[in-house]
Amino acid sequence: MPAVHNWQLGREMTYRYDPAYPKLQFAAVFNINRCIACQTCTMACKSTWTLSEGQDLMWWNNVETKPFGGYPRNWDVKALKLLEQSNPGKQTWSGKPGGPKDAPYGKFDGKTLFEAADGDQQVVSGYIPTDEEWTAPNIYEDTATAYPKQGVSLPEHSAWFFYLQRLCNHCAYPACVAACPRNAVYKRPEDGIVLVDQERCRGYRKCVEACPYKKSMYRPTTRTSEKCIGCYPRVEGSDPATEGLPTETRCMSVCPGKIRLQGLVQIGDKGVWKEDPKNPLYHMVHIEQVALPLYPQFGTQPNIYYIPPRWVPRPYLRQMFGPGVDAAIERYTNPSREMLGILQLFRASQQIVFSYELVKGPKVEEVVVDGKTREIFNDTVIGFDSKGKEIVRISVLEPFVERPGYLNSI
Ligand code: SF4
Ligand code: SF4
Ligand code: SF4
Repeated sequence: MPAVHNWQLGREMTYRYDPAYPKLQFAAVFNINRCIACQTCTMACKSTWTLSEGQDLMWWNNVETKPFGGYPRNWDVKALKLLEQSNPGKQTWSGKPGGPKDAPYGKFDGKTLFEAADGDQQVVSGYIPTDEEWTAPNIYEDTATAYPKQGVSLPEHSAWFFYLQRLCNHCAYPACVAACPRNAVYKRPEDGIVLVDQERCRGYRKCVEACPYKKSMYRPTTRTSEKCIGCYPRVEGSDPATEGLPTETRCMSVCPGKIRLQGLVQIGDKGVWKEDPKNPLYHMVHIEQVALPLYPQFGTQPNIYYIPPRWVPRPYLRQMFGPGVDAAIERYTNPSREMLGILQLFRASQQIVFSYELVKGPKVEEVVVDGKTREIFNDTVIGFDSKGKEIVRISVLEPFVERPGYLNSI
């Protein structure tokens, strides 16, 4: 099998196809710390794409409560178990996080799901969930590991839960693409969105079996597999609502918690992101390394990145997001001026922000976070669209507006 470079693992790995990369890649950063589990994203996707017959149990976007929740049930525990069984006790990392962008988290020395496959019957180690496992997308909502009488405090809570927002990762090395015997699943060269060709698909469910995130789903009425389409008419600007400009997807643009920022990032040699320090996603993923991939050890090089939750025990988070967790939480807790500016861009515009600029403002206060005194500056961040036109301008401090007295009278 061909060798490809997986920068999230800091090494080469085997994949079914020769390396081929899109010019731009659909990507997003989700700030777990801000999610309120309102499921607005889930319903926006559902009401747009999966309201038809046979799609009843399909949730292309879902938000589950960790550690117990999962859609389908226990999807991640089962994938981790497959890896552990094929390589007992050796699913480990070496080196140090904070490295160059072709190996930012050190080196993964274990096996990916491609490397754990038997090679004969399977190109990806996987499983097909039972019907039962798809039936309760929000099971264990808000269920914590314990309910302590005395409360909990940072840096780590002894009793905890958090919300994990999930959709197809439009992976750089999609397991669904590798597994399909009909070549019905493909990755678009213009934006890296992964789609299932409904004409070619025969419903063998190899993609359902292979995707470790379980984001390819079978539709019994058409006998084909379906998955998140990355709202491609919005991303490519062909939807009439977009006025021709790349626009964020339905699940991203509706988020009231302002946890999601979507982008299209430039891809260079070996699938590594091109140097683009003024792209907010590039800044968070590669410069500050505050946003991390979900289960990078699976090997698909997913393109949704997460700012990890501050209060959750670190061993759990390291297993989920890799060894960069501690540094990411430290940087998020004590953000740079640049990072604080970028955080204001989340949900400030429906159009995709391709670059940003930070205009420095005056110091406005000092705050103590985790025992450290921090200075807060009222900087202004400006976001630009694909053509370099300003689409949003927002300051760190929210403007204070006093309503005229007559509006306050009853
Ligand atoms: S819409 Fe935003 S805040 Fe609400 S559940 Fe989805 S990601 Fe979380
Ligand atoms: S998340 Fe799953 S369905 Fe989506 S591209 Fe990756 S392997 Fe395919
Ligand atoms: S990107 Fe579009 S299709 Fe995919 S989960 Fe979000 S709303 Fe659904």
